[in-house]
Amino acid sequence: MEGVLVTGTAQAGLEGECARCLEDISDEMVADFQELFVYEESDAEEDEALRMEGDLLDLEPVLRDAVVLSLPFQPLCRDDCPGLCVECGARLADDPDHQHDEAIDPRWAALQTLGEATDEEGGRTPGPTEE
Ligand SMILES: [Zn+2]
Ligand SMILES: [Zn+2]
Repeated sequence: MEGVLVTGTAQAGLEGECARCLEDISDEMVADFQELFVYEESDAEEDEALRMEGDLLDLEPVLRDAVVLSLPFQPLCRDDCPGLCVECGARLADDPDHQHDEAIDPRWAALQTLGEATDEEGGRTPGPTEE
């Protein structure tokens, strides 16, 4: 091929949020890249090939691809991040013993007695009350 094969290593800082607990993440990443740039005057037919501009080559698309492909699909603050409490949204990593007692919310307690009453009447599941 008529061109320059560019090989390198990119180092980048990452800023983001944990996919589970939304904690801010700040990390470093390293991505290797290798790309062929064909000479500007080359008549290479490949449209996909990157082309030099005179003596210069534009590394930006190469770096962007290398970094994006190396990014974790779901960044985590730590591999075993326990995420957020499904009931109150507390961050479980900050509070490993966090739990809610099993008491039923008073707003739902009435519904449960309703269900029990129906069971005693023969086990039918309550249907819609509207006509
Ligand atoms: Zn997390
Ligand atoms: Zn909670």
